[in-house]
Amino acid sequence: MCGIVGCVGPRDAVPFLLRGLERLEYRGYDSAGLAVLTPAGLQIRRTVGRVGRLAENLAQSPLEGSPGISHTRWATHGPVTGANAHPHRDATGRLALVHNGVIENHDELRQRLLAEGHVFSSDTDTEVLAHWIGKSLDSATGWDDYLAAVRRALAEVRGSYAIGVLDARLEGSLLAARAGSPLVIGRGGQESFIASDEQALSGMAREILDLEDFQIARVASGSLEIFDRAGSPRSSPASRSLSLTEVDEGLGGHPHHMHKEIHEQPRCLERALEGRLDEDGATVVFAGLHRTNRQLREIQRLVLTGCGSTLHAAMFGEYVIENLARMPVECDCASEFRYRNAPLDTQTAVIVMSQSGETADAVAALRESRRKGALVLGICNNPRSTLARESDGGIEIRAGSEIGVAATKTFTAEALALAMLGIQWGRLRGLPAAEATQLLKELQSLPELVRRTLDLEEQIARVAQRFAQAPNFLFLGRQASYPVALEGALKLKEITYRFASAHPSAELKHGVIALVNPDTPAIFLAAQDAVYEKNLGNIAEVKARCGPVVAFGSDGDTRLEALCDATVLLPATGGLTAPLLQSIALQLFAYHMAVALGREVDRPRNLAKSVTVE
Ligand code: GLU
Repeated sequence: MCGIVGCVGPRDAVPFLLRGLERLEYRGYDSAGLAVLTPAGLQIRRTVGRVGRLAENLAQSPLEGSPGISHTRWATHGPVTGANAHPHRDATGRLALVHNGVIENHDELRQRLLAEGHVFSSDTDTEVLAHWIGKSLDSATGWDDYLAAVRRALAEVRGSYAIGVLDARLEGSLLAARAGSPLVIGRGGQESFIASDEQALSGMAREILDLEDFQIARVASGSLEIFDRAGSPRSSPASRSLSLTEVDEGLGGHPHHMHKEIHEQPRCLERALEGRLDEDGATVVFAGLHRTNRQLREIQRLVLTGCGSTLHAAMFGEYVIENLARMPVECDCASEFRYRNAPLDTQTAVIVMSQSGETADAVAALRESRRKGALVLGICNNPRSTLARESDGGIEIRAGSEIGVAATKTFTAEALALAMLGIQWGRLRGLPAAEATQLLKELQSLPELVRRTLDLEEQIARVAQRFAQAPNFLFLGRQASYPVALEGALKLKEITYRFASAHPSAELKHGVIALVNPDTPAIFLAAQDAVYEKNLGNIAEVKARCGPVVAFGSDGDTRLEALCDATVLLPATGGLTAPLLQSIALQLFAYHMAVALGREVDRPRNLAKSVTVE
């Protein structure tokens, strides 16, 4: 959360900063701001709301200069106000700072600074950090002093940060540092950059270098110096070229990014399957796991951990892997796992999942697992992320960039990765080749099944519009459709702001049935699978209490149609892929309800993507 972009070079930094910020807006859109060194000194401009408003402000009264730093905020400390927008200055006004993260001891530092007479103009932890660093610079003359002072200041800071510092004393360079929040350095023709992710620099930088935790960098247009926490110079990390010259972030004729991304799923899933299905061997091959079959066989237990939609994908994986590989699998949200002191023996592998690969809780879960000596595998959408770099091996989900804040294609791609992993591990643990071959066929047909599901969009939209005024929803499913129900409810909450609660269908009668009434639609996931009749029984229980029922069933199911108020019949398929089709139908359901309610589909309130704070 929060996006940082900095630029230094001979040309005006402002257009570069705005371009980068627009690409980082998915990380937060509470406020935006920038600071540049102009001939008249350090100038700051900040606006509440989107980057577009900052751009309008600058169009009306331009600023020009270089270097510059900029920020798009997802507020953690202090409400969404102009005063809390970044950049923040130190007490002297000579230094400006942008920050992604949380300074955990901000209160203690603030008290110490207040006692020395500092006056703050915001409620943020970031302004405390700016004052704290600024104070240590009082007597700094020259770069060596400056670096030593920043190191001293950061040594007393607890929490997470990626920062960009602008100060005339840095003589035409920018200072960047990180601990726990992501930051990359980019180099273009004449300009150098810092950014929260490399996507922000597409079309501007030709090569990207990763800054490591506790490193401090001095970034100038023609030079880069990196220092460790002891102040010793470090050689520049290996750079990689920025693969895409310009990320295509257009809507491609779709009304919203979320709509575009829902419709990209057939292609994404095709990509995720490419080269991974070994039909001759009736198995799946993930080269990125860096493990021989023998090594994989030694693993007797899996722990899957992630947050939000990713956690729901993990729960889907739990059903699938346990079923196919007959191996105990446990799921835990990463924010709990990292503090739970879970026992991890040498035969347990931890699979840490995060679409961005930068989710703070997931990265912390990864590091805690490593500290305990466990084998850690990562599943993410960014093979250059912290998660990918720090795990022992992993799976790239190949979903492509997802701009809509509500996860869609990354959820299905994560779930597909786990379905494939289930087959791979299954084959190591007794899944017969003939059964695996059937499952591979089912997976191969998935992109086409998804296309047919997307063809039902108009019908799903009509159902969503019909129930859009209901204040509360129940989502119910059994087995692997239960995590899909959780994900469907989350999607609805995220983008329609309607309340939704998801449960295993059979749990209804253990309490939730008290909520059933004519104003609370129950959304049932009821494919014609082994628990179909059981689901029909639960639907009847809701109908008996006058609750409206919307069911997502399988093609040709007339019984379901006769029983429910609205029915959407999805392509009939096996148990590995049916939940994925249901999940796509529920994405469309939430999307069309949000549109009917006039919500900001791509930028729902209070949310941001890539949750890099705890
Ligand atoms: N803690 C800072 C603020 O509230 C930065 C938040 C973030 O990185 O998400 O402004």
